[in-house]
Amino acid sequence: MDCPRCVTPLKEEALKDLTCSIQVDNCPSCGGTWFDKDELEQIENIVELAIVEIRKIPNKKDQFDKLHCPSCNLHPKMSKVEHARDKKVIIDHCPICEGIWLDKGELDAIQKDNVVKTIGKVFSLLIK
Ligand SMILES: [Zn+2]
Ligand SMILES: [Zn+2]
Repeated sequence: MDCPRCVTPLKEEALKDLTCSIQVDNCPSCGGTWFDKDELEQIENIVELAIVEIRKIPNKKDQFDKLHCPSCNLHPKMSKVEHARDKKVIIDHCPICEGIWLDKGELDAIQKDNVVKTIGKVFSLLIK
């Protein structure tokens, strides 16, 4: 699977917190992260309001560039979803496989808080 933004092959990496660990695909070049729906299902029950602090996120132009899903065969364009807590964070969501792409700054922003709980919250909002 290649990065939807810079076409670098993604590397598997574990995101951990005290309660669980999920396997994600990370881009070593631009630092973006891909979450599969399976990864999402492991954590969808962990839902709690979390404070997201924004430090650095890609500029508007980059964020609004439509990315193609790295996971689906036909690489459909992903849709843009605003983060529920901060509309400056735009998440790329594949309508076919329901995977999610987070740019580096977006994951950093979310990691200011409990990463798994926060991502669980993002996913639970998308699933509804
Ligand atoms: Zn990349
Ligand atoms: Zn997809």
